[in-house]
Amino acid sequence: MTGRFAPSPSGRMHMGNLWSCLLAWLAARSVGGGMVLRLEDLDPDRCRPEYCDQVMRDLEWLGLDWDGEPVYQSKRTEVYRRAFQTLEQQDVIYPCFCTRAERLAASAPHRSDGAVVYDGRCGRLRLAEREELSRTRRPSWRVRTPERVIAFRDLLQGDYKEDLKQDCGDFILRRSDGVFAYQLAVVVDDAAMGITQVVRGSDLLSSTPRQLWLQERLNLPHPEYGHLPLLLAPDGRRLAKRDRDLELGRLQEKYTAPELVGRLAFAAGLTDRPEAISPRELLPLFSWEKLPREDLVWM
Ligand code: GLU
Repeated sequence: MTGRFAPSPSGRMHMGNLWSCLLAWLAARSVGGGMVLRLEDLDPDRCRPEYCDQVMRDLEWLGLDWDGEPVYQSKRTEVYRRAFQTLEQQDVIYPCFCTRAERLAASAPHRSDGAVVYDGRCGRLRLAEREELSRTRRPSWRVRTPERVIAFRDLLQGDYKEDLKQDCGDFILRRSDGVFAYQLAVVVDDAAMGITQVVRGSDLLSSTPRQLWLQERLNLPHPEYGHLPLLLAPDGRRLAKRDRDLELGRLQEKYTAPELVGRLAFAAGLTDRPEAISPRELLPLFSWEKLPREDLVWM
């Protein structure tokens, strides 16, 4: 069993990241599993090396460890290129010249926030039209999704399914600036790093059918998935980087690491009271059955 941390170093970690990291760590370590760290620094516009260092310091501060050297996605472009070529050879990739492409190709997935299902128009262009368009525009690259329902059983959210063509549409695997998309990198890396269990926020639940399908196309194993309920800001919104009060720097002014872990553990249903505790002390208390299924407001 091997789990993973996969933070995006685009700023300081916030409560939501800590929540996912703590629970992913507990899920793996409580059964003697391995834990690896991958820094999802694919997007050069948003990620900085100093943020990567900070993420590692923050995980250590919290009392979470990992095995081996961290993996930096920014250094793995060649590996993603090979996977991309494999898909090209399967004839499921096409260039998309739509100007909305940049938005849709955002480095982190947004579909559950109401992103648009692409209608596939560039997939129907004739060769001459493509050539004409590529004279003035640099395309992004989409994968042609099949009309197929991809279903899986999530460790927390139960049965989940999605019709790839209808619910998701053709999605971007490579941005027009050459950066490979999260969806491609994540499946390549989860396999390369031997991940057998993915624990992450339920904002990524709807990415999972795409990832399962890409794994199939690339002949990679499927890990099991557990999508955690989200921690919401006191006003019920999703936590975002702009919620400065819930950013780790601020939290560290208020809490020691065991105090913060204690509050997270209590919110997770692992303890009766929000008392200071270390991740290590929580190991015997972890079980999937105790975890909440619904999003919860962080107090
Ligand atoms: N890097 C993503 C994030 O920080 C997580 C990706 C994943 O767990 O698959 O939201």
